[in-house]
Amino acid sequence: MSNSLRNIQAILAPPPPHMVGDGFRVHNFFPGNDIIGKKGMSPFFLLDYNARISFGPSKEPRGVGVHPHRGFETLSIAYHGRIAHHDSAGNSGIIKEGDVQWMTAGSGVLHKEYHEKEYSQKGGDFQMVQIWVNLPAKDKMTTPKYQEIPNNSMARHLLSDGVSYMEVIAGNYEGTKGPAFTFTPMEVYNAKLKAGASATLNFPANFNTGLLIIEGSVTINNQPVKPDHFAYFKNEEGDININASSDAIVLVLSGEPIDEPIAAYGPFLMNTWAELEQAVVDVNTGKFGVLEE
Ligand code: MN
Repeated sequence: MSNSLRNIQAILAPPPPHMVGDGFRVHNFFPGNDIIGKKGMSPFFLLDYNARISFGPSKEPRGVGVHPHRGFETLSIAYHGRIAHHDSAGNSGIIKEGDVQWMTAGSGVLHKEYHEKEYSQKGGDFQMVQIWVNLPAKDKMTTPKYQEIPNNSMARHLLSDGVSYMEVIAGNYEGTKGPAFTFTPMEVYNAKLKAGASATLNFPANFNTGLLIIEGSVTINNQPVKPDHFAYFKNEEGDININASSDAIVLVLSGEPIDEPIAAYGPFLMNTWAELEQAVVDVNTGKFGVLEE
């Protein structure tokens, strides 16, 4: 018996890129997209995609300087190149190719995000995703924390060809659980497919769901979807079939919507305007700590 297919609502081409600082050239798929809407694809509020580009060598690492966050999480996935970060609590680290950093900004961090020094000096391919994952109201002011998820700690679910796999970052793919803790139910995977491989996904109808083609030639539910494009699904029951005709990587996002009001301003994501004003006051009065440029 074969299940019905979950229909694609729209295939989005990458919007024109903009620079975040001087180190990230991103296509913003949402929020603000006419089809997905101002509230993003809850619980995923924002999707910035640095499609693969090559940076030349630079002595001064390119990146984005000191800035705050409050009320959500940043999920950074590096496909090519390396990123370094520092925050006002003294934390720092490097996100290498294939690694994930899941930062819970919660009550607030000041941080900066740069190309890692050695990568910067050599230059080369750079490709990454940053997703802003919303937090429910009760957890918005949780203590900040990091989940560093190196590639070798991710769960791998082998697919039927025996070499392709679902790399599970968060959630549970057919019994294989990802390492990330999440505050609300969500599924985040990289489908890493060899030419000729296929994978089937199935999520609850109410889960907001989208697939970003990181590389390769794929069809999704028999429709070709080009690299760097985003397939956005309807909220309905049904399978999602991915077929790869070349080696491919597909980022899979699906999550239960957080049905709460959204108040967004710059790097803050809260429920009310008063909470946004408080965030600005707290940054200006040093409650997020200090961090040198
Ligand atoms: Mn940031």
